[in-house]
Parts: sequence; structure tokens; C-alpha cells
Amino acid sequence: MLPLCVPELHGNEWAYIQQCLESNWVSSAGPFVDRFETEFATYIGTPHAVATVNGTAALHIALLVAGVKPDDEVLVSDLTFIASANAIRYVGAWPVFIDVEPDYWQMDPTRVTDFLQHECEERAGALYNRTTGRRVSAIVPVHILGHPVDMDPIIALARAYHLVVIEDAAESLGARYRGRHVGQLGDIACFSFNGNKVITTGGGGMLVTENATWAQRARYLTTQAKDDPLEFEHRAIGYNYRLPNILAALGCAQLEVLDGYLEAKRHIASLYTSLLAGVPGITPMRQALWAESIFWLYTIRIDPALFGMDSRQVLHELATQRIQTRSLWQPMHLSPAHAGCQVVSGAITEVLYREALSLPCSVGIEEENVMRVAAAIQQCRG
Ligand SMILES: *Cc1c(COP(=O)(O)O)cnc(C)c1O
Repeated sequence: MLPLCVPELHGNEWAYIQQCLESNWVSSAGPFVDRFETEFATYIGTPHAVATVNGTAALHIALLVAGVKPDDEVLVSDLTFIASANAIRYVGAWPVFIDVEPDYWQMDPTRVTDFLQHECEERAGALYNRTTGRRVSAIVPVHILGHPVDMDPIIALARAYHLVVIEDAAESLGARYRGRHVGQLGDIACFSFNGNKVITTGGGGMLVTENATWAQRARYLTTQAKDDPLEFEHRAIGYNYRLPNILAALGCAQLEVLDGYLEAKRHIASLYTSLLAGVPGITPMRQALWAESIFWLYTIRIDPALFGMDSRQVLHELATQRIQTRSLWQPMHLSPAHAGCQVVSGAITEVLYREALSLPCSVGIEEENVMRVAAAIQQCRG
């Protein structure tokens, strides 16, 4: 089977893991954890980075340190992997799902504006949702599929209404918005190093911020909130969320080759786009003028009326040719796990759920396989 997206591990991974084994530093402390954090922070251009066991844990901690409280509401993209919404529930807050815009499929700033201006009211310096009566405290824009959200209008709104901006950048390490790295645009940001992400530590995550107090709090909460390590004194409920040294070693090796991976991703995307752009009913994913996408998962839209087959039929047809493809996530407002949560539109998300298909795009995929996939898609038209 030609896989959708698999890791590429051909650099210093073995050498660094061997150093962990030889030095006996394998667990939740050790030189690679510090090094990974420092190098990651430098790469993004933020002063602080805190490594976590996965991206979901980073989101959980980000919401905690940013002061999101139980029964608050948090605006989040309707089209995302469910972890973005789940983390909001972990802190006892409620997601409000915001539809995406049709061009780049990211959180739609005009929907955020509509919601904040027309469905909320300010009382005693805070913002409340008129329908639910709950306080709105944060926005979680999710840079999906490698492309950034249009952040300027969202940040302006957040400043005006005193909301915290937490970027979910799990899928977009290396992407840029108006020249700046995602992860340095909001107040705090989260990344993932799961096996399918652009670089991997097997499982892992990172929280980055300019706020030294938040970074310190995040480091404290991810290491069981230990106040006195000798007396085992804890003044808060902490978590066992710290990335082990042996996994951070993988991260250091992966970071060394990241720029080459991003180049490969962009090359794969431009190849697919040039092969598929003229096919009736196929719309390749796009990049905004203000964006530098990393095309993490190369995704197309298939209009069944024009193409003659819908995305699920194409998925099954390609599977018979041993090519793995995938639909996008069920829209959050349709997820039984988040039933009853408020949604602002959701119409575009539903169309993308029906029409989108992600194609094989591992960093190491050969050009001939990209061409084989494109040819197989064209053949679906008969
Ligand atoms: C992968 C992902 C996460 C979660 O990261 P894990 O490391 O798998 O916990 C969160 N948000 C988005 C958008 C993701 O794609």
C-alpha cells in the first residue's frame, strides 16, 4: 500500500538515541529535552518552549496557563482534528465552533467578528455569550493541513475583547503568515510530533510562548507540580506530561532536517497541483498570497457533479489500486462527542467533509508515485 503520510527517519536519530541509552538518560529529564526546547524555540523565534508528551497535552496545558476557566467558552475551528476541541473540555470549558472560509479552509475571521460583535455582550470588563450566558475567554485558531489562519483580524479582535489567542499549530510547523512563523503569532502556541506530522518523536508535543510566567507554569504543571522534590510537596494538581529524553533525542535529529522536509512537501504539492489542476471537478488546495504553506497533507476537493464520482468513491477506487487516501475530519459540530455545543455556520466545513480527499504525500514519496496517484485519479473519470 502506498501510505498517506509516514515518517522519514534517516538522520542522527539512531546516534542520539544511542547516547541516551549509553548515558542512562532515557526518562523525563536529560540533556536532549533541554536541547530540543532551546533549538525549537530558536527555530520558531519565541523565547520559551516546553516539551510535552504529545500535542494534545500541550493544548491542555496552554489552556490552563492562559487562564481558561471551567464553564468559559473558547472559539475554535469547526474543521480540525478532535484534539483541539477535546482539550477545551479537559479544562471544563466549552467550544464554540467557527466555520472555515472557502478558499484556504481555515477559521473564518468574518465569522469570528460576527459572533463576537452580534452574539456577545461586554459586562464588567469581560465578554459574555448572550445565548448561553457564559464568559468567552479565548480563541483557538487551528492552522490546518499546513496552511496558516488569517491571523491579523483575529488578533485585533482578541485584543479588543481581551481574549487569549492559543494557536493550534500541530499540523503547520514551519508555515509562515506574512513572513512570520506560525507559533509566534498568538499569545501561546502548540505543536505535535505525532507519527504523521511533518517531524516526529513517535509521540510528542511542544508549547511555545513569549510569556515567561506562563512558560514556567507550564513546565511546573507538566512535571507533576513539584514544589519540593525532596519532600514531595505539591501545591497544585500537576500532570505527568513531560517529554522523555529518549523522544526528545529523536526530536533534535528531526529538527536538523526539517527545512529539507518542508522543501520536499512543497515540491510534492506543486507536482500534484500541476498534474491535477486542469482536471474537471478537481480543485487542488491553494496557498494565500500572505501565506507560506507547508502542505502538510496534500488535499484536493472533488465536485461529484463535474468529476463524475464523489470523494468516497475515489477513496475506494484508489484503495483497490493500493493507494491510501483519506477524507477530512467529521465537522466538530456534527461530532457526537461534542453534541450540543454552539456552531457559527458550519456550512463550508460540511462541504469540505463531503468533497475533500488527502493524497499520499510522505516526505520520502518518489515523484513516480505522485504521478501514479494523479493518473489513477484521472482514470476514475473513465
Ligand atoms: C495532531 C493534532 C493534534 C494533537 O496532537 P497529538 O500529538 O496527536 O496529541 C492537535 N491538533 C491538531 C490540529 C492535530 O492535527
